[in-house]
Amino acid sequence: MNSPQAANVLLVDDKQENLLVLESLLEGPWVNIFKAKSGNEALGLMLEHEFALVLLDVQMPDMDGFETAELMRKSAKTKHIPIIFVTAISKEEQNVFKGYESGAVDYLFKPVNPYILKSKVNVFLELNKQKMSLKKLNTDLKKTVEELKIANKKIIEQQKSVIEEERLKVLLQMAGATAHELNQPLMGLLTTIYLLKTDKDEPQKFAEHIEKIEESGIRISEIVKNIQTIRHYETRPYMYNTSIINIDQKLKILCVITSEEDYSTIEKHISKLEKIELSRVKTIEDAKLIFSNTQFDIICLDFFLKDGTGLDFLCMLDKEKINIPAVVITGQGDEIIASQVIQAGAYDYLPIDRVSSESISRTIGSTLEKARLKRELREAMKKMAAMTTKDELTGLYNRRYLMEALERELARAKRYENDLLFCMLDLDHFKHINDTLGHQAGDMVLAELGKMLKDSIRDSDLLCRYGGEEFAIILTNTNAQHAINAVERFRERVAQNVFAFGGTEFHVTISIGLASFRSSKPQSSDDLIGMADHALYQAKTEGRNRVIEYTL
Ligand code: GH3
Ligand code: MG
Ligand code: MG
Repeated sequence: MNSPQAANVLLVDDKQENLLVLESLLEGPWVNIFKAKSGNEALGLMLEHEFALVLLDVQMPDMDGFETAELMRKSAKTKHIPIIFVTAISKEEQNVFKGYESGAVDYLFKPVNPYILKSKVNVFLELNKQKMSLKKLNTDLKKTVEELKIANKKIIEQQKSVIEEERLKVLLQMAGATAHELNQPLMGLLTTIYLLKTDKDEPQKFAEHIEKIEESGIRISEIVKNIQTIRHYETRPYMYNTSIINIDQKLKILCVITSEEDYSTIEKHISKLEKIELSRVKTIEDAKLIFSNTQFDIICLDFFLKDGTGLDFLCMLDKEKINIPAVVITGQGDEIIASQVIQAGAYDYLPIDRVSSESISRTIGSTLEKARLKRELREAMKKMAAMTTKDELTGLYNRRYLMEALERELARAKRYENDLLFCMLDLDHFKHINDTLGHQAGDMVLAELGKMLKDSIRDSDLLCRYGGEEFAIILTNTNAQHAINAVERFRERVAQNVFAFGGTEFHVTISIGLASFRSSKPQSSDDLIGMADHALYQAKTEGRNRVIEYTL
């Protein structure tokens, strides 16, 4: 009788033989049959067990079937149990059942026709089965929603800590890069001060030293200025869990909300907050238009819009590179959608039934804080890239640094009528190395060549990785012939060097173009670079693995 998957069916009849007949007709693996001989006994059983169906005899001595049904309707536990009345009342008296003709009630006439009994019972059992699976689905869904909520909270927490971590990392890197960058002019400053003391009786040298000190001072002050501007971008004073305090400006919020009802809820609560300027559009297209002439601080986004979904909107923001934080305000129970939109770039979400002035204020506060962190991170990264002076692969100075140095050295060469040589080196058929031995082998060659170059030049020369497989050198305090001899020796050294990668040994050659400031008289640093480049091109066309000096 007690199969756990089976539905419980209660048979109520004052006559034992009727109960046995019904039981024999209904018996099967999908039903657990319970029997009661009175309305009272039936009500007792219904409080103890869950029933899918009750077959209720109408004529019973103490409490008849209708009275029993009345009492069932009064209790929350039993009022939804479907009933089939079983009766000897003739079909002409069917109006007796009028009051019970709701969806969950049916009737059978005695003598019971087994076929009709089975089909009517099956209808209710089938309904019960559907009800049970819906119930299970509902519980599963609730569980999923709970899990999603937890996952979402975790994602948001993680996002916050990742942003913090990144910010710290960038700041540390920046501190390292700045220290490194400061080191050079500081060392220059100390050396020149030392020389100043020793040469104090030689006016010519004295003047040169003072000039060098000035240069170093300017360089240091530029670096310091860079550091000072790092945190200069706008930060608005919104904090978590505090009401919105804005010193001078209004906070501009754009609602992209289609539903009138949702918008009026949001508007009602936002209007209680101070210094907010609220605008509204209903479609993605209108939002795009308004973005072209108005700047907003935050967007409140509906999920269902007239011309797309919130996901489409977030996609549009990304595509158009619009950096305004968006908060999705979803209808109740839309946590699944909410987790999708968070993944698509929304900063937060708020179910519409939880919208209040406090929750909106809190959400706006935390969103602006997150947006500020992200913006700071972006700015710091940009600043970092602009401040960095070294190439990662070779550890040599980068092109940016070289360009600044070249300007300085050119100005100096002009003033003191010194010569200055600019060398451009390019690896020959380097693509072939990448193609045959792989990119890693190429990287190894670049790093090794960088090291060889560094060991070959004098401290006063400035070496950098100019681009992919190109290096550049500024040689000062030298004459052209000496410089040419030096690079020629270097070219030879490279050509003879045996490089090895993954068990393969190979040779590499370089072509070098160089231009002298004194003999080629460039108008600008770009001009000088162009001349060296020209000579390099000539070295390539003449067969590579050679040094060519630019001539007018
Ligand atoms: P040429 O003698 O005319 O200079 O021929 P090339 O193959 O050296 O010159 P090309 O400009 O055709 O190719 C340069 C190659 O350098 C292509 C590019 O993949 C490679 N390269 C640039 N930067 C790097 C890098 O950082 N690592 C590696 N492994 N390869 C790089
Ligand atoms: Mg090359
Ligand atoms: Mg090249």
